Amino acid sequence: MHVKLNKPVYEDMNLLKFPKEFGSEDGCWDWLFRTRWPEGFYCPRCGHSEYTLLEERRLCLCGACRYQASVTAGNIFHKTKTPLLKWFWLIYRMATSKTGVSIAEMQQQLKIKDYKTIWAMAHKIRKGMADRDSHYRLAGLVEVDESFFGPSSSGKPGRGAERKSVVIVAVSTWLNSSGKEEPGFAHAFVAQDSSADTIEAILNRLTVPVNEVKPLITALRSDGWRSYQKVTKKLGVVHYRAILSDPKDSMRLLPWTHRLIANAKAVISGPHRGVAHKHLQRYLSEVCYRFNRRFWPEESFHRLLNACATTSTVTHKELMAPNGAADQSQ
Ligand SMILES: [Zn+2]
Repeated sequence: MHVKLNKPVYEDMNLLKFPKEFGSEDGCWDWLFRTRWPEGFYCPRCGHSEYTLLEERRLCLCGACRYQASVTAGNIFHKTKTPLLKWFWLIYRMATSKTGVSIAEMQQQLKIKDYKTIWAMAHKIRKGMADRDSHYRLAGLVEVDESFFGPSSSGKPGRGAERKSVVIVAVSTWLNSSGKEEPGFAHAFVAQDSSADTIEAILNRLTVPVNEVKPLITALRSDGWRSYQKVTKKLGVVHYRAILSDPKDSMRLLPWTHRLIANAKAVISGPHRGVAHKHLQRYLSEVCYRFNRRFWPEESFHRLLNACATTSTVTHKELMAPNGAADQSQ
């Protein structure tokens, strides 16, 4: 196996292969080493290529400047005290489980003493997911809808509901060779509200490529909520307005956003049993991440492992801050 940092090779993985490749701490460390230094070690401080491995702490001691380089520096595993083997198992489960992973169950399986430790690990992995998806833009006909997440006893349902979190979901679509519509890439964001300004800002962020000004969206499909009418006018795109006379119509007329919303609600009310508003964005990112890679289930572990090895982490302190280190940059 050889995985390059910039041109990753996503290999298939399954329960039979996993212990062969990542059956020990050494196997996990070797993978991170090869990912960080695909052409062989070079010192991050002076560029020297010879090193001695300090076995106990698994640090590479530079032969020239004596800098101690770590395979986990600056990535999701930064300064972790938890064995990589446990991390890799958690990543495997989070990448491959369609319905979400029970963190309490994984705590038991992986023999992690403190629930807070694995809880933070899972959030760090979710950050890896969000960071990777933040590069993807939506194009063509984009289906958009909003939903409300939160306690069911919070008063009136729908728009205007108090104490619930507003979530804007957007899914790009494409036509397959038979002319049948398929869902493309999806994003879901916790938003301040469902006003036209908020939706416009989200759509601009999601549909305009970096360093460009022209959005890739050509048409918007939504319900008749006035915000969408304003947004489509401002963006100058066609508005396909779904008339929802019965709540059941939404599954038929706005199929992709509703599939994603149903999926997110099942994951959040199932294995996670409800989540705090300040952490909701990361759970949504997790659901979108898996949805966006549904065509590559076998590669999903390597894809997520690569995402975690190539992005920065979030600390426990940041997660516990009042805004929960909410990362809105998906
Ligand atoms: Zn050096």
